Amino acid sequence: MKISKSNVFKRVRKSVLSFILVIIISLLNVLFARMLHAEVFTATAYCSCKKCCDKDPSSKWYGITASGRKAVWGTVAVDRRLIKLGTRLRIEGFPKTTFRADDVGGAIKGKHIDLWFPSHREALEFGRQKLVVKLVRSRL
Ligand SMILES: [Zn+2]
Repeated sequence: MKISKSNVFKRVRKSVLSFILVIIISLLNVLFARMLHAEVFTATAYCSCKKCCDKDPSSKWYGITASGRKAVWGTVAVDRRLIKLGTRLRIEGFPKTTFRADDVGGAIKGKHIDLWFPSHREALEFGRQKLVVKLVRSRL
């Protein structure tokens, strides 16, 4: 079979088109996955104090989360039936922080997250908000 220039051109065009199609499909997949994992949660705040956690500063469990890690900025309490401990989260309004589900709380049920703050005053200032939460990586 004689391979003409136009035949080569057609083959190249075909592979370029399928390459573009693959890229478009993967981009759609990523977008879809992101949409699926983003939901509006009720967000409240807490700190390590006795009022919030009912642990005395002298207790060896003071400031220690349900996962055993020390509570730090980025620590979030979740309903572990909905979000597994260790899951990383992105929270609307905090673009620089990747949060981590490390804690639980009796009042944290369903689509509710509790953000840890270093002081009770900051926790009070945060109050209660409705925020978009994205699950970044689940520890499945
Ligand atoms: Zn507190």
